[in-house]
Amino acid sequence: MTDVFTPEGLPDRIRHYIDGESVDSLDGDTFEVLNPATNETYVHAAAGKRADIDRAVAAARRAFTEGPWPRMLPRERSRVLHTIADLVESRDARLAELESFDSGLPITQALGQARRAAENFRFFADLIVAQADDAFKVPGRQMNYVNRKPIGVAGLITPWNTPFMLESWKLAPALATGNTVVLKPAEFTPLSASLWAGIFEEAGLPTGVFNLVNGLGEDAGDALVKHPDVPLISFTGESRTGQIIFGNAAPYLKGLSMELGGKSPAVVFADADLDVAIDACIFGVFSLNGERCTAGSRILVQREVYDEFVERYAAQAKRVKVGHPHDPATEVGALVHPEHYEKVMSYVELGKSEGRLVAGGGRPEGFATGNYVAPTVFADVAPDARIFQEEIFGPVVAITPFDTEEEALTLANDTKYGLAAYIWTNDLRRAHNFAQSVEAGMVWLNSNNVRDLRTPFGGVKASGLGHEGGYRSIDFYTDQQSVHITL
Ligand code: NAD
Repeated sequence: MTDVFTPEGLPDRIRHYIDGESVDSLDGDTFEVLNPATNETYVHAAAGKRADIDRAVAAARRAFTEGPWPRMLPRERSRVLHTIADLVESRDARLAELESFDSGLPITQALGQARRAAENFRFFADLIVAQADDAFKVPGRQMNYVNRKPIGVAGLITPWNTPFMLESWKLAPALATGNTVVLKPAEFTPLSASLWAGIFEEAGLPTGVFNLVNGLGEDAGDALVKHPDVPLISFTGESRTGQIIFGNAAPYLKGLSMELGGKSPAVVFADADLDVAIDACIFGVFSLNGERCTAGSRILVQREVYDEFVERYAAQAKRVKVGHPHDPATEVGALVHPEHYEKVMSYVELGKSEGRLVAGGGRPEGFATGNYVAPTVFADVAPDARIFQEEIFGPVVAITPFDTEEEALTLANDTKYGLAAYIWTNDLRRAHNFAQSVEAGMVWLNSNNVRDLRTPFGGVKASGLGHEGGYRSIDFYTDQQSVHITL
């Protein structure tokens, strides 16, 4: 299949947005942005460097120290955020079209992500108005209360999987709390980020509050991390990049929020409802092309049902529809970029010597161009195999048997990561005890990745540091000054 779809009205160039203006890099440098379905360059984007970051931070700093945004009443900021949510909602189809085109995500899933982005803004618009802070008193003696203040210019660095939604996840709380921002989106997928400026202008966000600099991580991202006037960095991306950012931010003692990689286990006990567990484990690793931080990419199955599970799971994986990202019937689209495709394919090849291939195993038939990978399943994978230990971030899954609950727990915890875990069992006690002991920031019991926006989001071990979500995001983007009065 060589079907090519190009959306109408693509920009002639993707530029930075600094102090209310769309601008090129000061040195005029650009980088190529590829269409994942063809790997042809469809646009050039401004490649930001230190000088561009300096301009953006200066604009954000001015808007913070002189502008109205940090000083507005929560209700006033909330109104702007609700308007942003309205605008995102009203443009969800267009956003999904552009996101799917740029990232290779299936269009139906990109639409869900666009709606989630709107919901993020609506949620923080409400939360900031409902926000209550602590006050304590010792009667007749003393009163103490918390004075919550925005911190300043927040540096937001985001990855290419579900880019628009993940940007909203940081933008909404950073703005709701009165900070100003510089966003550095992922270089593989800059298209949807370029829409924020128009949306924010229309919603009435004051000039300079939102700034965006495109560019490579080691240039624009690095300069943002090392900028002395940026006290906060919220980063989502690979654990290795997180380590580099940690080191680079250390001399400035910045506030850091780190949402990093994962290799999350889905543990299926023999007493689980297998029909539901199989469906969920298919969705858990093949939705969003497997480019999902919380993907259940290691499936641990109890020996009594192992053979049945593997057979049924492989059969279902073969039915997952790989197709053009723009086709509404598509369940797995094109991986984001040829570099990432090569990485995923190298794991597919490696898996053939580390496990028993039961589905997929390469490029699906009928796709001459583009980053297409057939949903791939390896069974009988040993716990020390690289495909069991390392994040592949594609439609590839490793299945491993276990006998006892203790063994399942040991296997589940046997990686450097600790983002999510999925437990399938009808034994309520076991489910809760397992959740207690598993090393994961988020656990889903007999359910798949449904999440209330009020809950904490984040990982343990190499999957991250700090939590975002609900009040934790408000805490990250604000200082809590305590004020004491003697009566
Ligand atoms: P990445 O680490 O390569 O890049 C992420 C961002 O960091 C990009 O904008 C990149 O330009 C920038 N960057 C790279 N090097 C930098 C540097 N030295 N200084 C500053 N910025 C730099 O990650 P990716 O490949 O874009 O995204 C995939 C990864 O993100 C996976 O590991 C995935 O699990 C993780 N992820 C985690 C979560 C979560 O919430 N935990 C969510 C989504 C994705």
